[in-house]
Amino acid sequence: MTLAVSEFAPLHELNTLAIDVSARYFLTISELEHIPQAVLFAQQKRLPLMVLGAGSNVVFSADFPGVVAHMALRGIEVEINSNHEFESAQPANVVVNAAAGENWHQLVQQCLQRGFYGLENLALIPGTAGAAPIQNIGAYGIELNQLLQSVTGWDLTQQKWRVISATECEFGYRDSIFKQALKDKFIISSIALGLSTRPNPICHYSALADQLAMQGIDQPTPQQIAAAVMDVRRSKLPDPAQIPNAGSFFKNPVIGKQQFDQLALRYPGLVSYPQPSGNYKLAAGWLVEQAGWKGVNRKSNDLGQVGVHHRQALVLVNHGSASGADILSLAAAIQRDVSEKFGVELDIEPRVY
Ligand code: FAD
Ligand code: NAP
Repeated sequence: MTLAVSEFAPLHELNTLAIDVSARYFLTISELEHIPQAVLFAQQKRLPLMVLGAGSNVVFSADFPGVVAHMALRGIEVEINSNHEFESAQPANVVVNAAAGENWHQLVQQCLQRGFYGLENLALIPGTAGAAPIQNIGAYGIELNQLLQSVTGWDLTQQKWRVISATECEFGYRDSIFKQALKDKFIISSIALGLSTRPNPICHYSALADQLAMQGIDQPTPQQIAAAVMDVRRSKLPDPAQIPNAGSFFKNPVIGKQQFDQLALRYPGLVSYPQPSGNYKLAAGWLVEQAGWKGVNRKSNDLGQVGVHHRQALVLVNHGSASGADILSLAAAIQRDVSEKFGVELDIEPRVY
């Protein structure tokens, strides 16, 4: 089927920060063959190509001057082998293959309903299945790399379909090969997840453990874990449909022991988590809050239409008609203040275009 291409297409509804920009060319990938066709189209126009999922981890700083390919591939296939454990970091006897355009949260829910466990801590993360490996999505004590088996897609350099194993994905904290060596060089068409028909609850993460304890649940089922995760998320995070945002705007910084010791001495309340490497992960939200930015908005400051959410200092919000530049200048002010106060540099998590 040939591609339908539109010009100067609005992207307002296709990014969760609701930034009002347009794409020079826009097309929808609803068949596998659209992927190489889209690549060819962009090459012929000599323009950059970007794949857009649900737009929940992007910041458009201006109109996109190239080709936006909206990922809409659908389909979920299941392979069950109850006598055999598939290769995976978690015990797995089910492989779920999800097309890149499947909605992540709906996929989590479908798996739970069918008795395929492992994804419950990752409930309610916005976005598509295909984008999940890009930053190795994680929440409440689980990261995608613990469940992912492989990624399939189109390699733009080799101009062929390729399956990349989980090990080859070079997953890190909110990082993968798709943000490094394969950045803009690989279009994910589907992912394979190793799940299990036997529950394997992981509830050490404090906010999740507290929520379950508050509900008096001692040995939670996967369904109860997912429900608890959803409750905590809804109580803390603004729904982008009501208050446009891109989730955590900054990554949690990881610092060395020497710097950590100095900071911990100066700031006894410093929120930190020791890493297996000997380094320390700091809660970026705490740093932003201590730098005085939590809840700051256009009413209290001359920030235009942008602000910092009052319940979650990591979330920058668009109160109406903010531009990408407005969001990025607020981010820069926060980065500057955190750097001056703590000597710690915050990196922006969403991809800026
Ligand atoms: P997009 O924003 O559309 O794209 C993100 C990047 O991936 C872009 O560079 C894009 O080009 C690339 N990309 C997308 N699809 C493909 C593909 N098929 N092939 C190649 N490249 C592709 N993240 C977490 O890790 N944990 C959380 O708990 C979490 N919570 C969030 C809560 C809120 C309220 C919001 C708004 C965001 C949150 N995020 C979280 C961030 C976001 O949901 C994830 O990063 C998600 O995976 C992005 O999916 P998407 O489809 O929206 O990607
Ligand atoms: P939180 O529970 O207030 O915790 C603050 C930070 O401390 C988190 O970023 C988390 O790191 C870290 N943390 C807490 N308990 C930890 C533990 N037991 N071990 C190691 N690290 C721990 O965080 P929150 O902002 O409400 O978010 C809850 C979860 O959802 C987090 O996992 C967060 O990453 C995820 N989330 C992500 C986004 C996004 O856009 N990326 C948006 C919303 C929520 P980690 O981030 O490494 O878990």
